[in-house]
Amino acid sequence: MKYVLVTGGVVSGLGKGVTASSIGLILKACGLRVTSIKIDPYLNTDAGTMSPFEHGEVFVLDDGGEVDLDLGNYERFLDIKLTRDNNITTGKIYQSVIDKERRGDYLGKTVQVVPHITDAIQEWIERVAMIPVDGKEGSADVCVIELGGTIGDIESMPFIEALGQFSCRVGDGNFCLIHVSLVPVLNVVGEQKTKPTQHSVRGLRSQGLTPNILACRSTTELDENVVTKLSQFCHVPEQNIITLYDVSNIWHVPLLLKNQKAHEAILKVLKLSSVAGIPTLKEWTSRAELCDRLHEPVRIAMVGKYTGLSDSYLSVLKALLHASVACHRKLCIDWVLSSDLEDETAIENPDAYQAAWKLLKGADGVLVPGGFGDRGVQGKIVAAKYARENRIPFFGICLGMQIAVIEFARSVLGLQDANSAEFDPDARYPCVILMPEGSKTHMGGTMRLGSRRTFFQVSDCISAKLYGNKSFVDERHRHRYEVNPNMVAQFEDAGISFTGKDESGQRMEIVELPNHPYFVGVQFHPEFKSRPGKPSALFLGLIAAACGQLDTLLKKGVTKASVRSNGTSAIKSHQYGNGEKAANWSLGVPYSNGNGVHC
Ligand code: GLN
Repeated sequence: MKYVLVTGGVVSGLGKGVTASSIGLILKACGLRVTSIKIDPYLNTDAGTMSPFEHGEVFVLDDGGEVDLDLGNYERFLDIKLTRDNNITTGKIYQSVIDKERRGDYLGKTVQVVPHITDAIQEWIERVAMIPVDGKEGSADVCVIELGGTIGDIESMPFIEALGQFSCRVGDGNFCLIHVSLVPVLNVVGEQKTKPTQHSVRGLRSQGLTPNILACRSTTELDENVVTKLSQFCHVPEQNIITLYDVSNIWHVPLLLKNQKAHEAILKVLKLSSVAGIPTLKEWTSRAELCDRLHEPVRIAMVGKYTGLSDSYLSVLKALLHASVACHRKLCIDWVLSSDLEDETAIENPDAYQAAWKLLKGADGVLVPGGFGDRGVQGKIVAAKYARENRIPFFGICLGMQIAVIEFARSVLGLQDANSAEFDPDARYPCVILMPEGSKTHMGGTMRLGSRRTFFQVSDCISAKLYGNKSFVDERHRHRYEVNPNMVAQFEDAGISFTGKDESGQRMEIVELPNHPYFVGVQFHPEFKSRPGKPSALFLGLIAAACGQLDTLLKKGVTKASVRSNGTSAIKSHQYGNGEKAANWSLGVPYSNGNGVHC
């Protein structure tokens, strides 16, 4: 096993996760099998209890692990399936050491950061690196380890010490350190400044780690004299200094690395040059270029608790993007704060109310993502009602599905007091209830989590067709509440159809309105398994419906219609609207938005 460690310097939010994923991708393109580990030096055991509005979304894995969103980048870029152990946190390491201490495994010794915590970190890395993640047997060739945070942070010190020891333990030729740093340009003089990088490399060395490669984020390519200076002061060969300048979309990042021969530098350090092939990344390149050329918009209203951090819904955005590219449309997200759609806002803040309704009414499709808590729920309910009554394509995910069911109960079944037990534990008509296994007192890891199977109940429904007429599908879950099975017959008599259920037939997984162009709700989170070039079925359905391509898509058969290897879509592009320009969300220029990746 060879290891590539990616550290970050100067400031956070440099796009270290995207850089590490891109490194993994070019190594994979060289014919190597790649796995990855993300280290988060915070004390939480996992990301499950962390607010997505502060920290970005909680990514869910097949095994039910609730992890950092960077693991989503790895899964998407490398098309792999990681395990909860691929995300190491300080909490997990300390917990394992304290458990050992309580068992008496340390035989009376004083338990200390060095060597006990540092040993536990190294053992964890070596164990997890061996887990196969690409569906094949045997371990990968290379493990990319991303150390979260910035060099100099107090909390990452035990990890840096452990990794320093680890680099000696695995030996020369088995360990490559890539340091991602910032080369700022001072506006007054327009000069690329190397000092912050020099300082951060010095910090790294003082803690026992020596960088082999520097990946410098900057707005433009590094000047030759800047590369020479960095090489001299940081003791890194010039050919090992790569510039990651701003690009039009993040799919260009692996191409930047490849064009600057980053793979050759890494392979040389790892003594793999003789076994690795030349990366072509043909399909990847055509998709990145296609993405830049798209101009016909598809407008999707995202109705949620938007607080300015788009990373809160990162995988949903990615899944929408994958589907839009497959349909040859430029994705435009209109963020609609759900509480702005509520009647109360009409009185308290009429401008916000009108603006929110204008966005909703201007959208080609409506998406209500997952969520917790009752803030803005009424707004989501009216958005679902609007989409149902006006035959606008609608997709509800998890909470989005539950609110669609509540809306139907209130408007169609006439049960005005219908609600979810999450928002009203004494609801007269509890159409969404707490699952028997759910806990309201312990928040960490107590939901129905991870991959579960959904069986299609009928073949003649949109969701079954979009999933390629399979009899079942495995998707990832993260919820505590579910549709009340005792009310299902009443719902179905009124015309709504539960087209997907779990193996017991008691748990509703997919809901559809048969006489609507596209009204689908799912209890699971299909966004976590969407990949560039392999868009998630129901997102593809939403986008296709929103731009008038759904019939063609269903007629052609979904597998044929999804993106071909040359990046072209089999779905015929259909002229749309007046070529209106993308508005408030597009692929963005810098690939980081200050809190991880953007698009
Ligand atoms: N709050 C809802 C539940 O726990 C929905 C969860 C979600 O959207 N992820 O069931």
